Amino acid sequence: MVIRRLTQDCARKIAAGEVIERPVSVVKELVENAIDAGSDRIEVRIADGGKGRISVRDDGAGMDEQDLLLSVERHATSKIQRAEDLGSVATLGFRGEALASIAAVSHLRIVTRPVDRESALALTAHGGTVDGIEPAARAYGTTVDVRDLFYNMPAREAFLASPRTEYLRISRLVQTYALAYPRLSWALRHDEKDVFDTPGVDDLLDRIGQVYGTDIARAMIPVEGVRGTHRIRGFISHPELKRGNRRDQLFAVNGRAIADRGLSYILANAYRGILRPGRYPIAVLHVELPPGDVDVNVHPRKEEIRFADSRSVFDTLSAALQQALASRRVVGTIPPIDATQTTSQRSTAAPYPADPKQPTAVAEPLSLDLQRAVSQANDEREAEKVRVRGDLRVLGQAHSMYLVVETPDGVDILDQHIAHERVLYEKLHNEFRTAAVVRQLFLLPVRVELPFEAAAILSAHLDDLSQLGIVIEDFGGGTFLFREYPRMLADAQARQGFQELTEALVETLSEHGDPTVELVDRLLAELACAAAIKAGDRIPLAEAQALVEQWIALDDPYHCPHGRPIVFSIPRDELDRRFQRK
Ligand code: ADP
Ligand code: MG
Repeated sequence: MVIRRLTQDCARKIAAGEVIERPVSVVKELVENAIDAGSDRIEVRIADGGKGRISVRDDGAGMDEQDLLLSVERHATSKIQRAEDLGSVATLGFRGEALASIAAVSHLRIVTRPVDRESALALTAHGGTVDGIEPAARAYGTTVDVRDLFYNMPAREAFLASPRTEYLRISRLVQTYALAYPRLSWALRHDEKDVFDTPGVDDLLDRIGQVYGTDIARAMIPVEGVRGTHRIRGFISHPELKRGNRRDQLFAVNGRAIADRGLSYILANAYRGILRPGRYPIAVLHVELPPGDVDVNVHPRKEEIRFADSRSVFDTLSAALQQALASRRVVGTIPPIDATQTTSQRSTAAPYPADPKQPTAVAEPLSLDLQRAVSQANDEREAEKVRVRGDLRVLGQAHSMYLVVETPDGVDILDQHIAHERVLYEKLHNEFRTAAVVRQLFLLPVRVELPFEAAAILSAHLDDLSQLGIVIEDFGGGTFLFREYPRMLADAQARQGFQELTEALVETLSEHGDPTVELVDRLLAELACAAAIKAGDRIPLAEAQALVEQWIALDDPYHCPHGRPIVFSIPRDELDRRFQRK
């Protein structure tokens, strides 16, 4: 074995690789530097998902000539002096390697001017080699401009996702920092389009409103907890306002957005029994404790931390969450319950049922032995796979939710929403599979407004949606116009409105990165669900009869795209036995 010293260039790239994994890592480091510099406003501009260009502009302290030269050197930092200082880091940066790492793998230009200087200076570097410094002009503050990331590391470049996926990571990061630093003003521009631009605010709730929209902000519950020197402040969502994933949960520990399994677990635990499994609250929680009580030097990209006394932090959080949830004191007013209105399961803006523990779609419980008998009978029938088609007679609608149907061998109780959804899904899927989805053009385009991250996600997937027959135009500033829609759903959807649907689509899109067969399937199911008759809708008997006939004609009527039961059969035998006719 021969051991060789690596060349300086090679060593530099290896070190850079640990810190700078993808474009979003660059944005993170630059934004953290801008925060550490005491900026009031931070502007992030990116092109081509950050691969082409990332530029972060701040109005912070700036650097003089000597600092500027040192800033791109490895292990050069103004933030700590000795190893002991690592025990009490109060800034986001402390290793002095970010700018050096970024410089090593890009074309870098820094323009900076301290408040007390007349003029600015610019430094340029290519692949880690500094060209030099020259005079420049700008207002006080610093702009770091990074071009052609990984141009000299083709292997790393090849591992990057599509520009839109990289872009979505960046917009998510900016959103996270905006929530961690509400007092700062933030702007994000992507490919010359303004995605987000928001003034600084005093109240975290105002920032939540800017990021997620005011409807969500209004349904947040404040959280406050203090124990000794540990303090927790923030907001969690009312149980009715939930998500299908953990993406909208932020923990900022001393201003550092981190992932911590312990904290996530405590949050999930607080909602146990309140939210069903697979549903997650929205949360923005700021944890503050003395810098000496956290070890920030445990992760190469500073995405994790370690608490000196995690028990105490967890207990403080747990108590604060429990208290908040017990009060359920939301900040705004929850819209009154309108019995004629639907409560679709996925919507975030849906009206809240009176008692969240009592889901609206559950009928009177049947006695256990009847259930057992029925499910046994159903199993047998499933096994035989015989089902008399046709000859189904709708007797009526129960609780504006279930269709009661006489069948040749008993009585079926059908969930009207799920049955209709199934019918629509099947038709839509057929159209999509066999030909293009037939579209309807809206004479008046329908307008929807989305919060910033959601807008970014939707705008990145407009092409995919057009394949499904949905033509949406990005109007900028979070406004979108629906111009065309699958014809078979258009009327029904127009009656339901497009806002909730769009939010549900965004949620589905955000869970998948790039388009896959599974994504298409989920989107089609989403569209069918949104246009289908809702639980709570009263429908005329003739319409109910037509629906049941379409439903039974499906290839596989008993299977719901979301995996929920569609029909509950009570066999004739069972009725006879119950009434002692047998
Ligand atoms: P660290 O943040 O760990 O100190 P960096 O490589 O990110 O290391 O930055 C090196 C130094 O450059 C910082 O310590 C800081 O003094 C200076 N610096 C970097 N970015 C800025 C900025 N936007 N404004 C003012 N000074 C900056
Ligand atoms: Mg830094």
